[in-house]
Amino acid sequence: MSTQYDTERLRKSDAAHILHPASVVADVSNNGPARIFVEGKGAFITDTEGKKMLDGVGGLWCMNIGYGRTEIGDAMKAASDQMGYFHTFAGASNPAQIELAEKLIAKMPDHITKVFFGSSGSDANDTLMKIVWYYNGLRGKPEKRKIIARRQAYHGTTIATASLTGLASFHRNFGLPIPEVKHTSLPHYYREAGFNESEEEFSTRLARELEELILAEGPETVGAFIAEPIMGAGGVITPPKGYFAAVQAILKKHDILFICDEVVCGYGRTGHWFGHQLYDIRPDMIATAKGLTSGYFPMSAAFISDDIWKVLRDGSATLGAFAHGFTYSGHPVGSAVALANLAIIEGENLVANSAQTGAYLHAQLNDTFGNHAHIGEIRGVGLLGALQLMADRDTKTGFDLKHKIAARCAVAIGNHGVIVRPLPTADSLAFSPPLTLTLSEADQMVDAIKKGINQVMGELN
Ligand code: PLP
Repeated sequence: MSTQYDTERLRKSDAAHILHPASVVADVSNNGPARIFVEGKGAFITDTEGKKMLDGVGGLWCMNIGYGRTEIGDAMKAASDQMGYFHTFAGASNPAQIELAEKLIAKMPDHITKVFFGSSGSDANDTLMKIVWYYNGLRGKPEKRKIIARRQAYHGTTIATASLTGLASFHRNFGLPIPEVKHTSLPHYYREAGFNESEEEFSTRLARELEELILAEGPETVGAFIAEPIMGAGGVITPPKGYFAAVQAILKKHDILFICDEVVCGYGRTGHWFGHQLYDIRPDMIATAKGLTSGYFPMSAAFISDDIWKVLRDGSATLGAFAHGFTYSGHPVGSAVALANLAIIEGENLVANSAQTGAYLHAQLNDTFGNHAHIGEIRGVGLLGALQLMADRDTKTGFDLKHKIAARCAVAIGNHGVIVRPLPTADSLAFSPPLTLTLSEADQMVDAIKKGINQVMGELN
């Protein structure tokens, strides 16, 4: 199959015509794309040269049901043949989005009663940010606009969501963040806690720092706080004990909404349907995308509480239409894909598999790297995790980031047939394989990770 591709011609054409996302522009234009992928099955993906790799990251943390599922193609074709497209503006609808909304709301906490459909994680967060503004305007508090995110978090790349993203590279040279966005502390106990500070004390301190920021900005100007249950691209940072309870108490005290970004954690990734279930988070709004369609169709679902919805409904009398929406909101083909995707997750018990195979994978990683001189921490829950690289684990000294150890390890692991994701700011290697992962595929991941890391560390010593 792969021999039908003229890789050299494709590489040249790519380099000549495409501005790649999140890539070094000069590198791609000089060297062409790193790899050109053409087919996938289950957890495996194959390039034009016939090289097959186990995708330990599930694309960009999104391939929950595995590659090459013909059920999705069947659902897509049927929906496309039937109509293909019609919009959902001005009250128009279609049966697929109605059925999808019903199914999704049934999975949400009772107070979350409405969903808004879009096309990406960024637009879901962007939508929720605008709803915070709209809602507070309708409540007679138009100045309550600021959104607090955490340093190192990733929430998207539109103007508003790149601002929420707490990574300097997404701000530098774009004139971001916008003034409405502020950042608070990173809840990474392993690297950020003080000497002898317990997890609970660390959480209490972080909640205090959040409150200090709110008070410095003026609580009457702060509309929402946004956080992932487990911070994904920021390093797969699991929250320290008591963190969300302490944070939620502060938010409640100052009438600040909680936007829960479930774009990575949602749809089974953590061994639960949603990450907020793990940490007793009571969100006012929830952003989801990625696993909603396992990446087969660009689609997002942004959820709001009944309290917020009632304010929006009552606002119709003064504001008329809710002037927000996308051409592809509630797309009938996308909705059919999401329904087929959810049917696979449910039918194959993939949430339970994420918990079980995830527990096995973490146990194997702990066996392999528990005493490794250069692995400081093995984090994560279910099929979401990361390894923290350290120059010296005993003295808790990190590598100098300029040596790009995480990227070098990812290349070495890739040479052993497994894709993992280097997270440069966190100096970590992340994984989030398809939820279909088997025990032997988990073993294959651990074996390649071990060989790759030991090879790079051997070169350093
Ligand atoms: N939120 C989180 C937690 C993410 O990880 C991402 C993407 O990785 C986004 C939002 C943005 O999603 P998208 O790239 O679909 O816009």
